[in-house]
Amino acid sequence: MERTKVVVCGATGMVGQIYVARLATHPWFELVGVAASERSAGKPYGDVARWYIPGDIPPAARSMTVLPCTADAVQSTGATLAFCALPSDVAGPVESSLAAAGMVVVADTAAHRMDADIPLIVPEVNAEHLAAVPARSSRGSAGFIVTGPNCSTAGLVLSLKPLQAAFGIRRVMVVTMQALSGAGYAGVPSMAIVDNLIPFIRGEEEKMARETQKMLGTWNGTTFEPAPVPVSASCNRVAVLEGHTESVLVELEQPASVHDVEAAMATFHGDPQRLHLPTAPDQPVLVRPEADRPQPRLDRLAGTPERARGMAAVVGRIRPDPAFPAGIRYTVLSHNTIRGAAGNAILTAELLAARGLL
Ligand code: NAP
Repeated sequence: MERTKVVVCGATGMVGQIYVARLATHPWFELVGVAASERSAGKPYGDVARWYIPGDIPPAARSMTVLPCTADAVQSTGATLAFCALPSDVAGPVESSLAAAGMVVVADTAAHRMDADIPLIVPEVNAEHLAAVPARSSRGSAGFIVTGPNCSTAGLVLSLKPLQAAFGIRRVMVVTMQALSGAGYAGVPSMAIVDNLIPFIRGEEEKMARETQKMLGTWNGTTFEPAPVPVSASCNRVAVLEGHTESVLVELEQPASVHDVEAAMATFHGDPQRLHLPTAPDQPVLVRPEADRPQPRLDRLAGTPERARGMAAVVGRIRPDPAFPAGIRYTVLSHNTIRGAAGNAILTAELLAARGLL
């Protein structure tokens, strides 16, 4: 099978290099270009990427000349698919121009996440929202944009979806402990975070609420109808490099035992598992029995097989809540730059490919 040619926009950043690493051996996608800001354009990727992943830059990418993020430059590579991991303030126009030029764009940024007709996808949670993407025959030469959620929302929705399906959800309260890499390379100065935590992440609490409601909601053929589930989020930045940990309280519509909740999460599967997509984790939600798990250092790379490392959300400490009769508490951990960004986007592109939408 000929692989789909892809370019990564924002390839030098924290999320961008996860794409570069994971695409190096991808069976369906071939990385043919890397793009970033004008500061990096024209230079070898190996000279300008702030590489932080264990292991070397994949040789094919190291020698690539970084492109500017323009439709002409990106399409000059022959690519038809673009992954975008750009700062939100520049991402919107770049994503729109690539789609207008006929490309399929899978974006990690907030720019188009809440657009009325653009899907916001975690493939196991709401693959049916891809119905909003017009069929290839009706698109003519036009491309389209599909987005993925904010990094703290990805793990949360993976844990909520099996509960919504089995018992219904009335409301959600979540307190996050979010890793430094979630803020990008230059995000949080070391003098601000070492020996400290910061109990505020601008815009994050609002994003967690509205993105969760969109993904747990429905596509009515014209627009997305959010699920009527209030989400109360309190977001904190902590001195962890990777992996967002979240303490969650869910009030269910139908009371359920701890055993029933564990079973619903552990047996949860979606289209990626049914379709055997290349980077789908065997189990998207892993339930740990230990009293002190999940932990970022131990659990952030959870997921089998090997190419799905970092794609599973890990849940532990499932227990009843004394304040709400149908309340269930638990802790969920997910890798912010993998499941919360590049890994989720690659899985979304695999789903688009499997549905003939690329
Ligand atoms: P980052 O480390 O700061 O990387 C930003 C990337 O964008 C770099 O490649 C940078 O290129 C490029 N860039 C900056 N300004 C540009 C411009 N004016 N034109 C074109 N390219 C430009 O950020 P990140 O953490 O990877 O995040 C990227 C996006 O993904 C953000 O929108 C973020 O909200 C979202 N996201 C991040 C995470 C996470 O866990 N980090 C998770 C989900 C979503 P240069 O190297 O040339 O400056």
